[in-house]
Amino acid sequence: MSTTADLAATIRELVHANRILAHEGVVDAFGHVSVRHPHDPQRYLLACSRSPAIVTAADIMEFTLEGEAVDARGRRPYAERPIHGAVYEMRPDVNAVVHNHAYEVVPFSVSGAATLRAITHVSAVIGATVPVWDIRDKFGDTNLLVVTMAQGRDLAATLGGGRVALMRGHGCVVAGGTVRAAVNTAIYLRVNAMLQQQAMQLGDPQFLSSGEIERCVELQLSALALDRAWEYWSARAGCSAL
Ligand code: MN
Repeated sequence: MSTTADLAATIRELVHANRILAHEGVVDAFGHVSVRHPHDPQRYLLACSRSPAIVTAADIMEFTLEGEAVDARGRRPYAERPIHGAVYEMRPDVNAVVHNHAYEVVPFSVSGAATLRAITHVSAVIGATVPVWDIRDKFGDTNLLVVTMAQGRDLAATLGGGRVALMRGHGCVVAGGTVRAAVNTAIYLRVNAMLQQQAMQLGDPQFLSSGEIERCVELQLSALALDRAWEYWSARAGCSAL
């Protein structure tokens, strides 16, 4: 594949990721998904400031890891792009990042009593424990948005080597090796939150063991599973018409 075709394919997949996350209720007017630039690991691609539900290829902008637009052409970027740059900076293994405020996930960011944990095989990708980052710990009273690289780096430190971190009173950040892996994890993070809340109403849930998580993740992040899920979500979101 030529480098131009390669970039076009990456942008196309990123547009589909936007539409899928919107259709699956992970993002609404807010939230975003990015991908590391296929030719330059020091840059990433992210839509301009609009809902993922209506993002097209023309909206995809290129940024340095510090969040500077390479060629803005009048497009306005998302304020919270430091979330993406800081994760790419710290994690060479990460090539896609999702930030969202899924309503089902947020309660677990504010309840010290209930920690989000993997409850079913398809959501094992969220990991054995999901850390919670609180912007107030280091930055005091803010509007809770991650708008500086210092805030982004602090959030990335809480994410550590994992795939998911919750953001207190705000939402979450999800990291993946590919766009498909990150989208998969973001969707099943929301599913896990719904199921865990229901299970907790019934009693004391039994969570997956770390050995089970390891085996489930291997399957769930295999190309076979990721491609099958992607085909399904793409069809639901009407991506073939784009
Ligand atoms: Mn946000």
